[in-house]
Amino acid sequence: HARSRGPGQCQFHEQDLAPRQRERLRLEARLRRAIADGSFELHYQPQVDLQTGALTGAEALLRWPDGAGGSVPPSLFIPMAEANGLIVALGDWVLQRVCRQIRRWLDRGLEVPRIAINVTPQELQQPDFVARVLRSLADAGLAGRHLCIELTEAALMTDTAAARAATATLSTRLLMLREAGVQLAIDDFGTGCSSLAMLRRLPMDGLKIDRSFVADVDGDGAAICAAIIGLAHTLGLRVIAEGIETDAQLAFLREQGCDEFQGHVLSPALGATIMGEVLAGAAIQYRVPPAPALPTA
Ligand code: C2E
Ligand code: MG
Ligand code: MG
Ligand code: MG
Repeated sequence: HARSRGPGQCQFHEQDLAPRQRERLRLEARLRRAIADGSFELHYQPQVDLQTGALTGAEALLRWPDGAGGSVPPSLFIPMAEANGLIVALGDWVLQRVCRQIRRWLDRGLEVPRIAINVTPQELQQPDFVARVLRSLADAGLAGRHLCIELTEAALMTDTAAARAATATLSTRLLMLREAGVQLAIDDFGTGCSSLAMLRRLPMDGLKIDRSFVADVDGDGAAICAAIIGLAHTLGLRVIAEGIETDAQLAFLREQGCDEFQGHVLSPALGATIMGEVLAGAAIQYRVPPAPALPTA
């Protein structure tokens, strides 16, 4: 392994590598530099109550400007950062940045709902994860309720006989966050393989229905969305649908009793300045969904 020889002592030459590997190495080097320089941005996608249209929160999403007016998609650099361990530093940057942003909005007298951050299994497994979250909140003078942590099912998949001890640790850690008022949601629900037993045992606040099911409400997605909503409500969890693009999807999910949604039908992720205007009620970038149909007597 090249890295085991220490920095600057690569045992191969770049031109010996296949073009794809070379591209990957370059991207990895750029990622390392971008983390050191803090040259990322956070955008915020509004989340809205499906019944009332009230703003309930926003999801912070990483953007990595490519220098040519576009940005490198997270689907490309997040898996890479997970593979090489850079995700821990990157996640820490996101956490601190979000807390400072919330503080800035509050200082302007704005009312700030919960802001969600995405946390990978590797970050959650860091022994000091909870301490870092609590410190970031304290440094910014924030109550825990301003923050929501989105975890994937993979982060919770420690329910094997071999990892029982780790599971206890996981739920203890989640409880510590929850006691501080931090909300916890399972992201992309239905695409992983969490067990119902685990769902009941872990201190969760909400489930997010994966975009792939929302996109397919004309097909199998309808039954899956309905089942997830029923399951979540049985367990006392809120349900957020992500990736709603059409009025038909919106109408279906509202009819099924889904609590909240985010999606391009409302708004894409917005830069911090525009998001601040949304919080101020000045730039209503989103439209309130049409009033629910009255029940027929
Ligand atoms: P996610 O957490 O499931 O985030 C939702 C994704 O759906 C975002 O993609 C968002 O822009 C996109 N989306 C929302 N509404 C719509 C819609 O109506 N149509 C379509 N086509 N897409 C919609 P994005 O920003 O590209 O992020 C992709 C994934 O990258 C995220 O999925 C999350 O897993 C990861 N990610 C993004 N930011 C972070 C971060 O700060 N930390 C970590 N660990 N992962 C992140
Ligand atoms: Mg998410
Ligand atoms: Mg998601
Ligand atoms: Mg998703």
